[in-house]
Amino acid sequence: MSSKKESGSSNYYKEPGPKLSAESPFESMMERFRFAADILKLDEGMFQYLASPVKQVIVSIPVVMDDGRIEVFEGYRVIHDNVLGPSKGGIRFAPDVNLEEVKALASWMTWKCAVVNVPFGGAKGGVRCNPKELSKTELERLTRRYTASLLEVFGPDKDIPAPDMNTNEQVMAWIMDTFSMNSQRTETAVVTGKPIILGGSQGRKEATGRGVVTVTLAALNKMGLMPNKSTVVVQGFGNVGSVSAQLMYEQGAKIIAVSDISGGYYNDGGLNIPEMFEYSQKNGNTLEGYPDAEQISNQHILELECDVLIPAAKEDQISRENAHKVQAKIIAEGANGPVTANADSILEEKGIMVIPDILANAGGVTVSYFEWVQDRQGYFWTEERVNRRLNRMMRNAFDNLYGVSEEHKITLRQAAYVYAINRVATTLKLRGIYA
Ligand code: NAD
Repeated sequence: MSSKKESGSSNYYKEPGPKLSAESPFESMMERFRFAADILKLDEGMFQYLASPVKQVIVSIPVVMDDGRIEVFEGYRVIHDNVLGPSKGGIRFAPDVNLEEVKALASWMTWKCAVVNVPFGGAKGGVRCNPKELSKTELERLTRRYTASLLEVFGPDKDIPAPDMNTNEQVMAWIMDTFSMNSQRTETAVVTGKPIILGGSQGRKEATGRGVVTVTLAALNKMGLMPNKSTVVVQGFGNVGSVSAQLMYEQGAKIIAVSDISGGYYNDGGLNIPEMFEYSQKNGNTLEGYPDAEQISNQHILELECDVLIPAAKEDQISRENAHKVQAKIIAEGANGPVTANADSILEEKGIMVIPDILANAGGVTVSYFEWVQDRQGYFWTEERVNRRLNRMMRNAFDNLYGVSEEHKITLRQAAYVYAINRVATTLKLRGIYA
């Protein structure tokens, strides 16, 4: 375990950061971070503080495999910052997880929580493994041993994991149980993204898509556009994309195209989203073969003329190569990092309003916060209450960032970083540096 000063060195709700490619996301984030630091005139010491994680832990995880062999995996947990409250962030199981990636994703969580005024710092964790090659019992032993190695890091008041790539509510249940067994009491608030029966929250599954739609409606309003007269394109038809498409459809918007890994589906008269959702569910979560639409390419879908484009599939979709072809008025980043930093200025010149990922898809972490609050109270809210509070927090966050963007004459993305960094830096100044 190393402290900041010592270190040198599912298909269900997930709380992931962008999957880092060699190309961009971390550098994109650092570029945006440096820009905001300049606006705020952060001094060098504060810059260094915010750029480096508070704690980085690497653990070896021995697991007895089903055939009796011992295999040792490497696990990580990084706490980027915890001045706003306990740190929060997902755990991913993947063959390419590494400390650098986990550090980058942890800092993303710090900014995301600060943007929506959730009283959490940022963290991230992961285990380098191939979950597809592990049996369920091996996965359980791996999860429990990883948790046992981090008992001093995790805790409802310290650091709260959540699902991310290849981890789900079952993995969260095992973490919660392992932590509880060692604490000799049931500690539901130690993780979020749990099954509802174990203290999960209503509305969490749809929370990210619902948040995307709340901020999209706020942006349409600022532009003087009516939701029921607007046209919408959604890239990705998984958890975030399908919920966003359905809720925009319910608002009366015309969804002219959606896509998934099988390609793009276009109908300029408007797609029947509930029917497509049902089709996808019955068809193994893919739209492949959906009949009532013209098939177009995944690339083409991003270039269609529309009021709102919601990229909700993966990172690096709009880059210097294709940004000049985008014809949307608003881009709401459902996915993490779908627009690269070098596309930002092209979109800005075109007058396109980009609602940045750290705001647009923060509905998930907001309802994670609600789950933690409910677990600590031992009192559970109705779905209607969860949705109402989620809408309010997302709407307030949008209004805050819009105000900052007007004040400094900067984009919403720049405003998000200015707002988040300022919030963390101001809190740190008030608390002071413990010596
Ligand atoms: P998911 O796995 O449920 O869905 C992904 C969808 O994208 C699928 O429909 C898949 O077919 C499609 N897709 C994959 N590659 C594509 C491509 N090249 N072109 C078009 N479609 C493609 O994932 P999700 O949970 O909806 O997450 C989507 C994005 O949102 C990710 O970037 C994730 O990190 C981010 N995100 C998700 C949540 C959440 O709560 N689920 C929260 C914050 C951010």
